[in-house]
Amino acid sequence: VMGVANEKSIAWGIAAAVAAQGAEIAFSYQMEGFGKRLKPLADSFGSTLLIECDVAADGAVESLFNQLAKDWPQIDFVVHALAYSDKAELKGAYLDTSRDNFINTMMVSAYSFTEVARAARPMMPAGGALLTLSYIGAQRITPNYNVMGLAKASLEANTRFLAASLGKDNIRVNAISAGPIKTLAASGVKNFRKMLSQHSKRAPLGRTVTADEVGNVAAFLCSDYASGVTGEITYVDAGFNISAMPLDELEE
Ligand code: NAD
Repeated sequence: VMGVANEKSIAWGIAAAVAAQGAEIAFSYQMEGFGKRLKPLADSFGSTLLIECDVAADGAVESLFNQLAKDWPQIDFVVHALAYSDKAELKGAYLDTSRDNFINTMMVSAYSFTEVARAARPMMPAGGALLTLSYIGAQRITPNYNVMGLAKASLEANTRFLAASLGKDNIRVNAISAGPIKTLAASGVKNFRKMLSQHSKRAPLGRTVTADEVGNVAAFLCSDYASGVTGEITYVDAGFNISAMPLDELEE
């Protein structure tokens, strides 16, 4: 599981859900500070495999899986729950996106999934599952999400192309498009709190979702129950994506 920053992380909700189904988990973390925070969390699952991996560093993903292979020659699934963009550009107009931040956002948030898939493949000789996390900003504009929307669009296409590349190896590749959840990464998007309230007004369930709810669907997609599902973007968003208007304001 890649991307646990703290107990609010979506990756943490996913870890809890897969552990409840009996998975043994290895974690990767971006850098030392995150590793320190992760340690007690991982301890609570009896996980001792914690490996540093900053996906922005050349060769880091390959080295992560080489290290993992020393302890676990085979794995069943990988969860890629990480993204990055310069906070200074997660506000204002998309038009002002800089070249450097565009490239970096795409590399960390989209291309890293390709590298993960390539490195994980030899460790899944009988098949497996890869899962990543998207957001509706991949499909529709949402204020301030800006270049991250383009990165998620790329990540969703990445999910489909990887599914095609890896289908013959019985490796399934899927994404969950999660509704907004207050995490460290989310707080980098300007007015995120207002996004949460807008979401609840439009979503059929009238609320946001939790990382645990995302985790439960992730556990399904990573399991053999989803053996016929690949290349799919599954919404876990309380139904927000099917709604075009706030639901209560126009009712009699
Ligand atoms: P989070 O801050 O808890 O997790 C983001 C993680 O990305 C952190 O662990 C961070 O260390 C990691 N990361 C960033 N740059 C990295 C790098 N260079 N190398 C390695 N790791 C790096 O936030 P989250 O909301 O749990 O984010 C997880 C995923 O879910 C992201 O892809 C995010 O875009 C996606 N997502 C979040 C929401 C939301 O509202 N929170 C909604 C839909 C999708």
